Amino acid sequence: MDLNGKTILITAAGQGMGRASALACAARGASVIATDINDEALASLKAENASIDVCHLNVCDPQAILELAANVGPVDGLFNCAGFVHNGTLLDISDDDWAFSMNLNVTSMVRMARAFLPGMIERAKETGSSSILNMASMASSIKGFPMRTAYGATKAAVIGLTKGIAADFVKDGIRCNALCPGTVDTPSLRGRIEAAPDPVQAEKDFIARQPMGRLATVDDLTPMILYLLSDDSRFVTGQALLVDGGVTI
Ligand code: NAD
Repeated sequence: MDLNGKTILITAAGQGMGRASALACAARGASVIATDINDEALASLKAENASIDVCHLNVCDPQAILELAANVGPVDGLFNCAGFVHNGTLLDISDDDWAFSMNLNVTSMVRMARAFLPGMIERAKETGSSSILNMASMASSIKGFPMRTAYGATKAAVIGLTKGIAADFVKDGIRCNALCPGTVDTPSLRGRIEAAPDPVQAEKDFIARQPMGRLATVDDLTPMILYLLSDDSRFVTGQALLVDGGVTI
């Protein structure tokens, strides 16, 4: 999957799947702009690959998104990766929790796509195709999980948002897809495991729901991410693509 000549912007690229994607896209020849709210994480990414441009971005800051889009100019690929897992049932979700999850997981993607789409449409006139990739989850409209009501609702909204963008801009050369991972071993998953009353059991429970008997690594996900951001997926749009180790068989 060749990304030479492409400029790709990624949110939440400081750690986890966003970081792995930034490194993988750069290794395939893309000019990568890696953004995150965590400057230390960005600095360590820059130390790992100096060719990657890093930039502070809080995806919940509408003005910062507009300024970034103006500074960066047109991109060929936009990977909206930022997201947050609320842990709890419906009865645990306060109005503030709900608003926070919707804002970070969904509204941020609306704002990012709205800010970058005009430039992406211009790029697509030259190249034939620009790609937006939105991070959803198997926990969404695809499958329900205990303690993931707010999270699943936001990720279901991400899939709906993805399909809407795909339908509206297909004739402009814009493709828009959603990635739906299973449980991936990332720093925030480790945090959820450590925060459980019994972390050893919590890890066993996460693994037990994976038919392949293990958690995903970020490297299990990067091939699909590269595919969806590259022209190899030029005939794929409006899809929610599962990479879940068989959970939803
Ligand atoms: P992670 O959760 O470990 O890291 C998330 C990154 O997001 C951090 O670098 C953090 O600094 C950054 N971030 C947090 N708030 C931000 C904000 N307001 N603006 C910008 N950046 C912000 O990484 P992960 O586990 O790979 O998760 C990435 C995405 O994948 C999320 O959308 C998550 O919901 C989704 N996802 C994760 C899993 C999993 O099991 N890990 C499964 C399915 C989907």
